[in-house]
Amino acid sequence: MRSAAFDLASPLAPTFRGMLLFGIALLGLGACKDDAPARPNIVLVSIDSLRPDHLGCYGHPRATSPEIDRLAAEGVRFESAVSTSSWTLPAHAALFTGLYDSSHGLFDNGLRLSPDHRTLAEELRAAGYHTAGFFGGPYLHPTFGLGDGFDVYRSCMTTVPDDTDDDTLRAESRSAAGKSHEDITGPRTLDNVKAWTAEKPADKPYFLFVHLWDVHYDFIPPAPYDRMFDPDYKGELDGRDFMGSRAVHRGMARRDLEHLLALYDGEIRFTDEILKQLLGALREKGLLENTLVVLTADHGEEFFEHGSKGHQKTLYDEVVKIPLVMHWPGALEAGRTVPDQVRIVDVMPTLLAAAGVRELPTMAGRDLLPLAKGKSLAPTAALLELHADKRDFRALRTRELKVIRYGRAPDGKELPNVAHDLVRDPQERLAVQEGTNSAHDEAFARLDRTLESAEALRAYLGAKATAADIDPELERKLRETGYLMGSKDER
Ligand SMILES: [Zn+2]
Repeated sequence: MRSAAFDLASPLAPTFRGMLLFGIALLGLGACKDDAPARPNIVLVSIDSLRPDHLGCYGHPRATSPEIDRLAAEGVRFESAVSTSSWTLPAHAALFTGLYDSSHGLFDNGLRLSPDHRTLAEELRAAGYHTAGFFGGPYLHPTFGLGDGFDVYRSCMTTVPDDTDDDTLRAESRSAAGKSHEDITGPRTLDNVKAWTAEKPADKPYFLFVHLWDVHYDFIPPAPYDRMFDPDYKGELDGRDFMGSRAVHRGMARRDLEHLLALYDGEIRFTDEILKQLLGALREKGLLENTLVVLTADHGEEFFEHGSKGHQKTLYDEVVKIPLVMHWPGALEAGRTVPDQVRIVDVMPTLLAAAGVRELPTMAGRDLLPLAKGKSLAPTAALLELHADKRDFRALRTRELKVIRYGRAPDGKELPNVAHDLVRDPQERLAVQEGTNSAHDEAFARLDRTLESAEALRAYLGAKATAADIDPELERKLRETGYLMGSKDER
């Protein structure tokens, strides 16, 4: 294993940990050559708000994901993968730095990743890769720093010209697709990637990052996906204004909620089709030879399992569990499933290991290729955090247990710290209060140590997030999507 694992639960001082990592890196220089083909192309796909339990390969009864199921059948599927948070910005920062939120520092609205962090794209570019990224949602905008290291980084969102005097153009643009939560970006993303295949340099391996946005609310898939999974629905609900609509609430009729879920599934099937065409376009150009394709998400989505809708509200499994599939014919055996818990912070070390990068930045994650190849690694715990919108929630998750420390809720209420037994109660319906179970108390202590280490690592790295420079159009998109404080979605 060439990746430097960084156990944040360890009580080691940051300086000493730095020395230890240096030692591990030196050991790595003498490691045997991997049997994987050298310097593969890398395609990393993040499907925003995609719950794994709504994919066929994760057991969903509907045919939402034939292309993702194919990747899983021909590659490796990680059964239990988790994000660092339940919303887009910190989760993608974790994907791109291999660090927990308290270490990369991008845990609240309006912050920019420090340019001092070494990102996945920067590392791959330094290793000789051509790096290209395409995104469909506002938090992937380069103003937040997530575009650092990409040779090509393109927005696939609809642009509404804020300064135009043409009221008709503005009205048309807004009603068609101007609102980012109503924007259908998949086809535009596909077109942009196809155009890039003609312009990319031929003499280098490539790293392609694609952020697919349409599964994110609102749930308005185009035909035929709008009726695909609920053709007989006769009700009024149409999936628009999911967060703002007063018709979408925890006491809504079961039949209407079922329809919403069918629309969410329709968006997944639509996005799966975009993914199929995207990979097909790469294959047609001969660009999928010796290529590692990784499919994941930033977080999931809540449909009132614990009283909330959307995401960025809680740290329950419906919002923190993500899919993770790796497809690399010739290097990874087809059809393997890995039961171990893995984390979004593990993706970057894995991709750097696959690319043969040996001088690794300090990361919380670790290389998953041994697991993907059927070897075993020690179990890891995952740190989960939610600091946005006046919340201050922190949790530690293992395969068996989740402990949550509720520091502050938006309404100022004090919530008790609780533990959830994920084996007996995978739906997290029963909460056991802190102080009533010694195994839980040990997990709470481990959570505190892990947080301390993550914060110490941020100090050690010396890279501070700064205020992002958000232009008016981007701010409008974020507000419409319900992310900025004071939006109508705060209800
Ligand atoms: Zn997201």
